[in-house]
Amino acid sequence: MINIDEIFDYTSYNIDREPHIVLDNTKCVTCEERWCVNVCPAHCYAWTEEDKKMSFAHDGCLECGSCYILCKPQAFTRWRYPRGGYGVSYRMS
Ligand code: SF4
Repeated sequence: MINIDEIFDYTSYNIDREPHIVLDNTKCVTCEERWCVNVCPAHCYAWTEEDKKMSFAHDGCLECGSCYILCKPQAFTRWRYPRGGYGVSYRMS
């Protein structure tokens, strides 16, 4: 059994400069749950209360799909998997 924190020991990335997820963070301001902040295993989302602003970085995305499923306002202008050859690679052996 692998711990979620250990998964980064088994991953590598080929980061696409063209983000596979693009967030419309104006929708995050009125979202009451902001589940993405807690559900994302890669901590790609960060809410700053003082600025009332959601930050997002696609670089460490594990492509789990949780944010897409749980985002109530569907605050994405793009959500797709990375282009071929880009994104995360898992080594499980
Ligand atoms: Fe985080 Fe998963 Fe969404 Fe990627 S797909 S940003 S890992 S919740």
